[in-house]
Amino acid sequence: MLVLMQRDATQEQIDGVCDAIRQLGFTPLPMPGTTRVAIGLAGDDSQVDTSHFEGMAGVGQVLYDSKPYKQVSREWQPEKTIVQIGNGVTFGGSEVPIIAGPCSVEGEQAIIDVARALKAAGAVALRGGAYKPRSSPYAFQGLGEEGLRYLAQARAETGLPIVTEAMDERQADLVARYADCVQIGTRNMSNFALLRHVGRLGKPVMLKRGMSATITEWLLAAEYIIAEGNRQIILCERGIRSFDTATRNVLDLAAVPVVQKLSHLPIIVDPSHGTGVRDKVPPMARAGVACGADGVIVEVHPQPDKAWSDGAQSLTVEQFEAMMRTLAPIAEAVGRAITGAGTAIATGG
Ligand code: PEP
Ligand code: MN
Repeated sequence: MLVLMQRDATQEQIDGVCDAIRQLGFTPLPMPGTTRVAIGLAGDDSQVDTSHFEGMAGVGQVLYDSKPYKQVSREWQPEKTIVQIGNGVTFGGSEVPIIAGPCSVEGEQAIIDVARALKAAGAVALRGGAYKPRSSPYAFQGLGEEGLRYLAQARAETGLPIVTEAMDERQADLVARYADCVQIGTRNMSNFALLRHVGRLGKPVMLKRGMSATITEWLLAAEYIIAEGNRQIILCERGIRSFDTATRNVLDLAAVPVVQKLSHLPIIVDPSHGTGVRDKVPPMARAGVACGADGVIVEVHPQPDKAWSDGAQSLTVEQFEAMMRTLAPIAEAVGRAITGAGTAIATGG
């Protein structure tokens, strides 16, 4: 439920409504807008009668939310949320940042070298898993905290902020110490204890869509994070399961405009996991930018055939450079700009 105050409502009247909400056992969430204050009532308010507030001084209108999620919705916050990672890479504004890096961190020099090459080609943030959610318990599981140290070293050498995954609460605490953004992977989108935990960490979170989650379920997962006070959430469409095996997943690009209408949170696209096939990544990255994504994340490895995970979908550095050159005009055509475009070193080819 949302209580919309009148344009000229006084602070005393706003406080009065907040007190009334508290007396009903809910937490009031006042949101100052450009013309008036809206006060959200988070929680199961299905039994609350709107007339309870309608007669109160300063109240303009009382609205029931039409969606099950609240704080992530455009109804609660019409203007877009801008999420900043590191010192200045922003998601949700007019710029489109590109995040790149290997699937897994494989060694200190390896991650530093690839980070340097990616930065030169125009990436503005570095990805790389230190904790890997693998289908088989016998597959490489990631270097753990050692991998986080290597990522931090790569950031020190290049200035690129780091995005890396945590699969449980203990890992999330460690990731938050080293990284600039905590990634919650597709397999953990419905790990509600973990979502609540990252909601309390005070670090930006990249929340990937569950591979069989509806958009409503995904936004409700984000609601778990925001309900704990963390509004710094980047959604990431990474493909959903389908009957078709031609690609690893089906990259649901329609989710971009759908989510942007429903939610104020930025949404980025991951064409690497979305397709699973290297040569499909650049066209789907371009499509992601064309449909209005607030960023793109791709896997890149200097020698994909030797990668410890996800080699088949990893671009070579040269392919990444070539892809980057094609993104800027597409961003421009839809009224956006690739972050840092024009400042990256053009390496030809
Ligand atoms: C990854 O980013 O390497 C990863 C495992 O992603 P997802 O959770 O989308 O499979
Ligand atoms: Mn991967």
